Amino acid sequence: MEIFELTIHQLHEKLKKKELSSVEATTAMLSRIKATDEKINAFITICEDGALAAAKEADSRIAKGDGALLTGIPLALKDIFLTKGVKTTCGSKILGNFVPPYSSTAWSKLEEQGAVLLGKLNQDEFAMGSSSEGSAFGPTRNPWNTDCIPGGSSGGSGAAVAAQQAIATLGTDTGGSIRQPASHCGCVGLKPTYGRVSRYGVIAYASSLDQVGPMTRDVRDAAIMLGAIAGYDPADSTSVDRPVPDYTTALIPDVKGLKIGLPKEYYIDGLDADVKKAMDLAIETYRGLGAEFVDISLPHTDYAVACYYLIATAEASSNLARYDGVRFGHRTEDAAALKEMYMKSRAEGFGTEVKRRIMLGTYALSSGYYDAYYIKAQKVRTLIMQDFLKAFETVDLILTPVAPTPAFKIGEKVSDPLQMYLSDIFTIPVNLAGTCGMSIPAGMSSTGLPIGLQLIGRPFGEETIIRAGYAFEQATQWHRMKAVL
Ligand code: GLN
Repeated sequence: MEIFELTIHQLHEKLKKKELSSVEATTAMLSRIKATDEKINAFITICEDGALAAAKEADSRIAKGDGALLTGIPLALKDIFLTKGVKTTCGSKILGNFVPPYSSTAWSKLEEQGAVLLGKLNQDEFAMGSSSEGSAFGPTRNPWNTDCIPGGSSGGSGAAVAAQQAIATLGTDTGGSIRQPASHCGCVGLKPTYGRVSRYGVIAYASSLDQVGPMTRDVRDAAIMLGAIAGYDPADSTSVDRPVPDYTTALIPDVKGLKIGLPKEYYIDGLDADVKKAMDLAIETYRGLGAEFVDISLPHTDYAVACYYLIATAEASSNLARYDGVRFGHRTEDAAALKEMYMKSRAEGFGTEVKRRIMLGTYALSSGYYDAYYIKAQKVRTLIMQDFLKAFETVDLILTPVAPTPAFKIGEKVSDPLQMYLSDIFTIPVNLAGTCGMSIPAGMSSTGLPIGLQLIGRPFGEETIIRAGYAFEQATQWHRMKAVL
């Protein structure tokens, strides 16, 4: 097996036994990135010198015997995570030259363990999108078929795992941005419960929905990464003060007696035939393993996309007000007065989709419309949350598709925002409910594109979805399939 094909736990064993050094592993990853990224465009920034220096440091830690699970493991981050001294663009021209003075908590925690930062990954601008075509740095391509999108907005994070350019990555998920690219790229993507991981130093899109999570080759790696980044952070008032379990103890290949809900609103007529087939097979697999299925209803599902696009755009319009050309980011060269400078800096710096969202959100928050749109959306959000809580009175977890179709072609939906928004129909409700969900590889389309299934857990029920995901992985081979580049 090539070094770049290893999982975190496999590489950790090799580092511990001194069969391999972190410098060797990091060098292998950097050459893999160089050999493949012209085709994929997963990276916005490659940190060659920094990565090799960190790898050296990790090797000396390991030599002294104080290595942790992630010491010396080469990782990459979505370009939404602030990384001290390393350019962080959020996929936007407005932050094209922004070098943050401090790091996000999620990255700091990995860095403290001795993880190696290979670089920063491409994404839809400000995480607004489902295809990664919205990046100011060009689209990322799907390693399984470079004519297709890798999903979004964490498309670079999914593609880098699938193209074996990083052992694992971090993404963020506001409405599906970890789970949907994981599904389209054939990797594992875990969106933790809101509040489980600190959002400090993560560029804000919609603050009441944003969550940080891992994208990995298998469920064990997702458990390792989640354990490393989770926990209370006084710097993020929405992070929850609750002990972090050892998620690897949930890696039990046993789902006997587990009750799995199938929401009738998710198994709809428009579902792609290959996706439907993968779901049917997955249900059969779980049945064979002793799980029980229960038909459930999440009656407010139909309102989720509309509700999300009011709340997310309202919060985005407020969060993005800070990009004014004064404090950081792009400033126009051509303005005579202050107001003109604000307007031109923003007009030049933001892309089309971001502008659309700012306008929608500003409208929804404007006086006279606030109650009719924003407040109403908040009420619908509560109903959606209650749907899930009610379902979890009878089931332990919920199984659904991640996306209604496999990865679509580059260019197919860019001119039709509504079609693009609808690709998150199965992931958005989970963010609105604030609970956790994971995408795991569960099939292959007739055209050779990966298909993921989604396991949705109770709030702070990550251990249950990890256990169920692990059991599925042990019983199937989908996670072993590799994109050939
Ligand atoms: N595609 C959704 C949106 O554009 C979700 C994005 C995300 O989760 N960051 O808002």
